[in-house]
Amino acid sequence: QQPVLSLRDLQVTFRGTSGPVPAVNGVTLEAHAGQVVAIVGESGSGKSATALASMGLLPDSATVTGSVLVEGTDLNAIPEKQRVPLRGSSIAMIFQDALAALNPYRTVGRQIIDAYRLHHDVDKRTARERAVEVLDRVGIRDATRRVDDYPHEFSGGMRQRAMIAMAVVNDPTILIADEPTTALDVTVQRQVLDLLTGLTDDLGMALVLITHDLGVVAEVADQIAVMYAGRIVESGSVLDIFDHPAHPYTQALLGATPNLETSGRLAAIPGVPASGTNLPSGCPFHPRCAFAAEVGEACRTKRPVLELRPGTPAHRAACHFTTDRELPDA
Ligand code: SF4
Ligand code: MG
Repeated sequence: QQPVLSLRDLQVTFRGTSGPVPAVNGVTLEAHAGQVVAIVGESGSGKSATALASMGLLPDSATVTGSVLVEGTDLNAIPEKQRVPLRGSSIAMIFQDALAALNPYRTVGRQIIDAYRLHHDVDKRTARERAVEVLDRVGIRDATRRVDDYPHEFSGGMRQRAMIAMAVVNDPTILIADEPTTALDVTVQRQVLDLLTGLTDDLGMALVLITHDLGVVAEVADQIAVMYAGRIVESGSVLDIFDHPAHPYTQALLGATPNLETSGRLAAIPGVPASGTNLPSGCPFHPRCAFAAEVGEACRTKRPVLELRPGTPAHRAACHFTTDRELPDA
């Protein structure tokens, strides 16, 4: 089975006032239908730029190279005019802030109807029925009545659901969710996650979940990619990452997740996160790495590449240390 989304050597560079700022540096990633792929990292790791590049939504100040294959079509190789019809029906996106994503001056139903009619040549009544149906599906009670509410008449959790409804109304193959639960309280977070995984199953979508929350990832992801300074430093199945974390950065993140039940946030790892403008030599993580002293020279001078872990089908890490010998059990 072919992946529905395939990023190949994706590079994103922003034009900054004092020169180019690399944000994503060679990301390769696949997502299959019915699968939840999580991209985990601190802010500035390049995960949001990866998401926006996947939608072809980066501003003109960004240079994107590599390919973004959406159901086989390279979004990065076609003009904007040809991308527009793919957004919504092939690939859709939701954000952390539903209030910013919804138009405050139009009813929730109106916005869903408009989104639907962009892709379906139907009359208003049919589109309205579809809007009610999809609001009902995302768990808005009394959808027949609430369809005429304005966003401010919804609670935060309901707005998140409404944004999801608008994103899935055209049955996308891929849904990208950038920190979809970060602004919500824990109970609502759980409900929204359940909704997203339910929709992934029902609609046979691929869900790309962008998050800094390892608790979220442990519960819902099939595959995980850990990003640091614009690169994937480790990727694999949930078991690979949680039971056999190979990269010192992943290990440090997990070290601060005492209990997955409590929705552990990313660890406060000592040191400054590396980014495009202050990228350290060699391994970008070396100034913060607990093992760098042991490995020494190579960490400071040689950039580790993402390599398959021996004896695994798809567990990869980019670290000089792990390719030489096993790390102690985390
Ligand atoms: Fe740490 Fe060196 Fe591995 Fe980088 S390559 S993560 S500095 S041990
Ligand atoms: Mg972000």
